[in-house]
Amino acid sequence: RVDEDWLTLPNRWDIPVDVCAGADVPIESSAVDEVLTVLETADTLERLAAATGHPGAVIDRVALTPDLHKGAGIPIGTVLRTRGALIPQAVGNDVNCGMRLETTSLTVDRVRPHLDAIEKRLRHLFFEGGRRIALSGAQREALLRDGLPGLLDAGRPPADGVWSALRPGDADPGRLHAARYPTTTADAFRDWIESAGGTSYDSIIGSVGGGNHFAELQYVAAVHDRQAAYAWGFTVGQVVLMVHSGSLSLGHQANGTGLEQARTMWPDGVPLPGNGILPLLLDERSAAARRRYLDAFGNAANFAVGNRFFLALMMRAGLAAECGELSGEVVYDAPHNLLWPEEDGHVVHRKGATPAGGYAEAAGGPYALWGEPVIVPGSMGAASHVLRGHGNPRTLASACHGAGRRVPRGAASRGNDADLDAFLREFRVVTPLDHRDPSVTRRADVMAAWRRDLKQEAPWVYKDVGPVVSSLGRAGVADPVVELRPLLTVKG
Ligand code: 5GP
Ligand code: MN
Ligand code: MN
Repeated sequence: RVDEDWLTLPNRWDIPVDVCAGADVPIESSAVDEVLTVLETADTLERLAAATGHPGAVIDRVALTPDLHKGAGIPIGTVLRTRGALIPQAVGNDVNCGMRLETTSLTVDRVRPHLDAIEKRLRHLFFEGGRRIALSGAQREALLRDGLPGLLDAGRPPADGVWSALRPGDADPGRLHAARYPTTTADAFRDWIESAGGTSYDSIIGSVGGGNHFAELQYVAAVHDRQAAYAWGFTVGQVVLMVHSGSLSLGHQANGTGLEQARTMWPDGVPLPGNGILPLLLDERSAAARRRYLDAFGNAANFAVGNRFFLALMMRAGLAAECGELSGEVVYDAPHNLLWPEEDGHVVHRKGATPAGGYAEAAGGPYALWGEPVIVPGSMGAASHVLRGHGNPRTLASACHGAGRRVPRGAASRGNDADLDAFLREFRVVTPLDHRDPSVTRRADVMAAWRRDLKQEAPWVYKDVGPVVSSLGRAGVADPVVELRPLLTVKG
C-alpha cells in the first residue's frame, strides 16, 4: 500500500510503505528501484522465518524520507521496523553517525571580526596536532562499554587543552537521544583500547571523518517557533555549533560482525538472497550471535557519541581562545544510522534518517512539551534547520537527516571551477590544506584532488533545504523552530 500515487511500487508483499514528504519533494526516480531491495528483504525474512519455524518474524512497516538515495544495499533514507528479527545491514555502515548541536553565549556580531583567527585556531586543533587528547586504556574501555557518561566517570580529565572547555551538562542523558548504548563487553575493539600507551595522544578520537562530515559554526538567522526556541535556549543572532560525524572505522567493523553472525546463523538448505542482505532472528538459537553483534554495534555507537562530544569540545576551545569564556548547552545529539530494539520485540532501523519523536510529558526534560529536536542540515554555505518532531507513526517517528544530494558525487567532482572559486572567496571552509596561504607551494595533483573533494560537497550539489523542511511540516512529521546559517565549516 502506497499513499502517494506518484510513487508506485510493485508491492506484492503488502507492507505499508510511507513517504514522509509531500509530492513537491519527489524522490529521485532511480531511488524507487532501490526500494525494491527493502521489499526483497521482507521476502528473505519470510523465507528464513518459515524455514526455522518463526512465522512471526516480519518487516511490518517501512518509511522513506525525502532524501532517499542509493546506498550499499538498503537505500539511505530508509526506516524499517521488524518484529522478531533485526537486520544489521539496515543500519548505515557508519554506525551511529549523527548530528550534535550546541548553543553558545556568543553573538554573530561578536564572533565575525575574529573569524580569521578562529579559522587558524581550528585548523591547528583539528589538523595540526593541536588537540592532544590523551585517554587512558580504562577511559577508552569505559567509553566503548558505558558511553560518554562512562568516559567522564572513568577518571578525572586533565584541566588543560581541549578538556578546559568541558561543561557539566555535556553528557546529560536528558539532552542526548542516547548517551549510552547498552553493551556487555568491548572485546571487539580490544586493539584500540590497548593502544593507549601512558600519556600518548589518541590519533583517532577528534577526527571529523571525510566527505559529508563536518563541524560547523552557525548563527540563528530566524526563529519560527518562539516558545520552542526559547525552551531550547535559542535567540536570534546567537552563535551555535553543529557537528556531523560517526564512528569512523569502528562502525564498519561492527556491521561486518553483524553480517558475519547472520551468515553463521543462516540455515542450511535455504538459498542465500540475491541482494546479500541477511536478517538475524530474535530467537533463542541466535542469542549468542546477536550478543556479539549488539556488543560491537553498541561499542561503535558509544564511540560515535564520544567523538561528537570531542569535536564540539574542540570547536568550543577554539572559540573561547579568541572570544573569551563562553557558556551554552547541548541542544541535542541525534543519531541517524541506528538500530533500536523496542520492548515488545519490534526493532526500528534507521539508515540515514533521524528520530522525530513527539510530545512525551512523561519523559520530562527540555523536550517534554515540544517534541524531539530534529536537525536537518542544508550544506556548507546554505541554511540548516532545527524542527520539533511530532512522533508521526506513519513515518515511524522519523525525518530526513539532511536536504539530500541533488548531483551524484561523480558528476559533482567534474563541476565548474569558477563556481568553486567564487564559493571559496565568499565562504570559510577549514580543511587540512590552507588554500589561502600564499607562502606554501603545492603539487598540482594535490590541489586537484582537494578541489574535487570540495566540489562533491559544494552547496549546489544538495537540494534546496527550504522545500524539504516545509514538506515535513505538511506531512505532519515535524515543524520548524529555528533557521541556522553557516559562518565557517571544518571539513575533514
Ligand atoms: P548525507 O549523509 O546525506 O550525505 O549528509 C547529510 C546531509 O548533510 C546532506 O544531505 C546535506 O544536506 C548536509 N550536509 C552535507 N555537508 C554539509 C556541510 O558541510 N554543512 C551543512 N550544514 N550540511 C551539510
Ligand atoms: Mn551521516
Ligand atoms: Mn557518516
